[in-house]
Amino acid sequence: MSDRTERRSLRSHPRTGQRFNELRGEEVVYAVDRQERTFLPPAEHCPLCPTRPGGEPTEIAAPAFEIAVFENRFPAFEAPHGAAEVVVYTDAHEGSFGTLAQERARALMWVWRHRYEELGARPDVEYVYIFENRGVEVGVTLHHPHGQIYAYPFLPPVPKLELTADARLGGCAPCELLKRELDDGRRVVYENKEVVVYVPWAARWAYEAHVVLRAHRTSLVECEAAELNALAEALQRLVRGYDGLFERPFPYVMAVHQAPTGGEGVGGGHLHVEFYPPLRTAAKLKYLAGSEQGAGTFISDTLPEESAASLRAAIADAR
Ligand SMILES: [Zn+2]
Ligand SMILES: [Zn+2]
Ligand SMILES: [Zn+2]
Repeated sequence: MSDRTERRSLRSHPRTGQRFNELRGEEVVYAVDRQERTFLPPAEHCPLCPTRPGGEPTEIAAPAFEIAVFENRFPAFEAPHGAAEVVVYTDAHEGSFGTLAQERARALMWVWRHRYEELGARPDVEYVYIFENRGVEVGVTLHHPHGQIYAYPFLPPVPKLELTADARLGGCAPCELLKRELDDGRRVVYENKEVVVYVPWAARWAYEAHVVLRAHRTSLVECEAAELNALAEALQRLVRGYDGLFERPFPYVMAVHQAPTGGEGVGGGHLHVEFYPPLRTAAKLKYLAGSEQGAGTFISDTLPEESAASLRAAIADAR
């Protein structure tokens, strides 16, 4: 290909941005520069550690901090088409969300709430998605305890599907599903005054768990302080139970689902946090293969009631 042709094709096909996949009816986002992002650096070169006096500069120009939020240097979304942020839970390199001090976990709920509110107020943002990928099994590139926030300029397919569940059930789907889980009881693994954790009736992953506010709250912004504290408590109890289950750090994707902040679904939804752990046993991973990828149907070799029984025991033991 000549230089001239190359230049022209780059102009007509920019290297970043989104394309609509017609066959699936969904957006695909291209963030090509992410290929160069830092991949599992040794602890002494961790970009999420504080910048020590005399040491090499990191992403955080302070010698110590509690919780830090900054724009992702390798963003999937950038203003004026959304945002991508990193949320660092602690300045300590070792540890995890589950081992944070209770006060820090509670403070994190307020940071999430603040970011949801601020990003959600932007005209270019329709959906604020707070999440954490934990473990190399789900593609983690930095071990320092942290999560991320993507602010999408459109409503992504999963929250959109949840809104159609509201329509199908004739009301708030998480409210109705929570009621069913509490009535049945076999899959509930933890509960406190404000929050219930259960393995859902039709879990796709062996140890999938949903952490749901008892009261109908569309987002963190609507929560009372006691509810935020109870949410932090439930999340930590769950992940410590996960770690105890097979006595190993338990990989997962943690997904915080809240109301869309712009466009079609504003104000719909019910705050809940979903966990998708890829482990089926201590050593076996669930791979998304033929049926899951090509047909979109999960085939599971464990029953939610049985997983819930072991997870409930692990949570009680982990304390
Ligand atoms: Zn670090
Ligand atoms: Zn609800
Ligand atoms: Zn959800």
